[in-house]
This record gives sequence, C-alpha cells and structure tokens, in this order.
Amino acid sequence: MKVAILGGGVAGISSAIALKQKGFDVSIYERHESDLSIGAGIVVWPNAAYVLEQLGVLDEIEAVSGHLTRMCRLSSANEDLGAIDIERINRNMGYSSLSILRSEFQRILISRLESLGVAIQYGRTVTRIETKNPDQAEVHFQNGSKITADVLIGADGRMASHARRYVCGDNSPVYQGIINWVGVYESEEESFQEIAVADYWGVGERFGIVPVTKHKAYWAGGAACADVGPRNQYEYKAELRSIFSDWPQLVRMMTEHTPVERINKIYVHDHDPIHTWHKHNLIVIGDAAHAPLPTSGQGACQALEDAWHLANCLNENPSDLQKAFVKFTELRFEKTSGIIMAARTFASSLFSRDERFCMARNENSKNTDFAKVAAAMSGGWSQHLPLNV
Ligand SMILES: Cc1cc2nc3c(=O)[nH]c(=O)nc-3n(C[C@H](O)[C@H](O)[C@H](O)COP(=O)(O)OP(=O)(O)OC[C@H]3O[C@@H](n4cnc5c(N)ncnc54)[C@H](O)[C@@H]3O)c2cc1C
Repeated sequence: MKVAILGGGVAGISSAIALKQKGFDVSIYERHESDLSIGAGIVVWPNAAYVLEQLGVLDEIEAVSGHLTRMCRLSSANEDLGAIDIERINRNMGYSSLSILRSEFQRILISRLESLGVAIQYGRTVTRIETKNPDQAEVHFQNGSKITADVLIGADGRMASHARRYVCGDNSPVYQGIINWVGVYESEEESFQEIAVADYWGVGERFGIVPVTKHKAYWAGGAACADVGPRNQYEYKAELRSIFSDWPQLVRMMTEHTPVERINKIYVHDHDPIHTWHKHNLIVIGDAAHAPLPTSGQGACQALEDAWHLANCLNENPSDLQKAFVKFTELRFEKTSGIIMAARTFASSLFSRDERFCMARNENSKNTDFAKVAAAMSGGWSQHLPLNV
C-alpha cells in the first residue's frame, strides 16, 4: 500500500517511521527546504516515551535528554506553591519523563527514518488537494508537481492545514489570547541543581523553565494579550524585560542570558475539536487534527501516539481503509479532545488578569493533593496504551 504523508513535523516523521517499520511504502513531503525545527524544547512524557521505544529511538533520545524529577510551582514572588512528583508519574507509567531540545529530537527521528531508507522530500509545499477519484485524492504542490497515493496522511500542522481544510472545509485555528516567548538558555556554569521544571505563576503571566542538563534549559514566558500583534525579534528582549524584570532571579537569568537569535515569539492558537478526521483516502493527524494549547504539555506526545495507533489501524485493516480510519478516530478522539479542553481551562486560570482569583488559585495550589494529581495525569495519559498504571 502506497502512503504519502504531508508535513515533516513530529506527526509526519513519526508516522513515516511507524508505517515503514510495518512494511508500508512511505513518502513524506515537507514545505521547508531543509530540516528546520521550530520551538525550543519538549517534554516527552511516559506515554510518548513508550511510542519512541516502539519506533526504535528511545535509547538515543534518553542519552541526550534530561530525566525530570519534579514540576515545582512558584509564584512570581518566589513563594513555594507545591510540586508534582514526576518520578511518581514515571513509576506509575513505567517510563521516564524526558526534557529534550526540539533540534535534537527532530535530528534523532530523521536519522531513524533515513536508516529505514526514507528521505523527506523537502521544498514540497502543498497548495491544494482535489478529489477527482475518491480512492485517490490528488495533492498539488507549489512547484507544479502533483501526487496520488492509496493513503494520504495530513500532518501539516495547526496554522493552515490544507488536509484539515480538505476534510472539514475549515482550517482556521483559534487564537486563545496568549503570547509565548520561547528560548534556549546555555551556560558554561552549572545553573540548575536539579533537573526539575520550575513553573512561575503571576497575574496574567507565567514563566516556565525546563532544564535539559545542569547547564542548559529551554523556557517559555507567557502573557495574556487580547489580539495577535507584530513580531520583531529585536524587540523580544525589551518585551520580556517589561514583564519579567522583577520576577525571581532564575527567570531574569533565562531572559537576559539567552541570545536573541534563540528566542521566538508565538501567538498561541489551538483548534476546536472536530469529530471527523477523514475524507475519502485522506486522514489528518497531529496538530492538523487536534492541536492543544502548550499548557497541555502534550501536543507532540499526542502526535507520537497518533503515529503508533494509525500504523496499527492500517496494518490491521489492509483491505478496508474506512474501517481503519474509523477505528483510529474512535481510539483517539476522546483523549485528544479532553486534552484540548483541559489545556484551555488551565490556560484561563494561569493567564487570568483577576488578582483576587490568582491569589485564591495560588492558595489552592499550596493545598493540592499532588499524589492525586500525579495519579490523574498517569491515568489520563495512559489511556489506550499498554502501560501498567
Ligand atoms: C510554544 C509551544 C510550546 C510547546 N511545547 C510543547 C511541549 O513541551 N510538549 C509537547 O508535547 N508539545 C508542545 N507543543 C506542541 C507541539 O509543538 C505540537 O503539538 C507538535 O509539534 C505537533 O506536531 P505536528 O507534526 O502535528 O505539527 P508541526 O510540528 O507543526 O509540523 C507540521 C509540519 O507540516 C509542515 N507543513 C505545513 N504546511 C505545509 C504545506 N502546505 N505543505 C507541506 N508541508 C507543510 C510544516 O512545515 C511542519 O514541518 C508546543 C507548542 C507550542 C506552540
């Protein structure tokens, strides 16, 4: 069976690996001219670590990742608001939680794909998808070329997915009123005593730091902002200073000592859940199907889960594509929609501009039963995976 994948991000590359491992004939098309990993870093939670093991890359990923121990919550005045014991989640789910730079992550996935004999076809921007024959929708590229395949996988991301538009007529993401500045900090000096997430909560603002080693971390500073505005790299430092200059020393260290070329600014969008992910021989996966806010911490992890499940569904139903697509949607819809909605609820609390609400929120955090939180996270993330929770 010939499979063509549109988009060479986490969802596209990981599904190419999963399908190739099962013997499918796979091609993958990416609009960029070369490997270009956007974003700073990701946390590979144990559900994603399981999938990475199935893809044959977990050992390599572990070798360059931080092994996270805790997620510490603090106020913008450095008050301790409690901590989630990540090692407890790891024990519950049987895999480590890993912090890794996106560039490393992408490099390892691409090299695994190449070792299986598949090269990403760069410089192939999808411009439209047409149904001349419902069994073989036709994909057109900007360079004038076109392709067909038995199965088309739309993994072209959250912002302007042609595959999502083909399936449901609309591909507009929803701006959720949050800006994120993300960056990668590196130092000769030892800057972190523990490989633990530090999550600082303010009023309408948040700053998260995720160490990868004792010398290196990626970070995200977020602020509520009603409208999508301009992006000018040379203003990012001043923008960060105007918000975070009186926050704890670790936050200031990240923003001051990260070179401006390693800072990016993102107006954060997600997608409303949609029930239908497939039309004719095309199915959408990853952010094109179900993009959650970064407050979920699960976007890339869910893209990896998609890859594993879709490969299994196609492998188990080689002569009935519609059955495979329906099975995949049944397995994935509830979990991913739950993650989208929970991430919105969490974001509306984190980025609230109501001072009294934020004080009560911080008090609540101090009184939280974090063992219960860890159990709920482990249970939710393990859904539909063979993990012994
Ligand atoms: C600020 C921020 C922080 C995040 N942090 C985390 C985190 O810590 N943990 C986590 O799990 N997730 C995180 N995420 C979410 C995660 O980045 C995404 O969910 C994940 O990358 C989805 O993978 P994807 O392959 O579906 O989409 P993408 O990674 O966006 O890949 C889509 C690919 O399709 C290509 N493409 C797009 N249009 C076309 C076209 N027309 N033709 C051809 N190719 C095309 C793109 O160039 C891209 O390579 C974060 C997201 C943001 C915004």
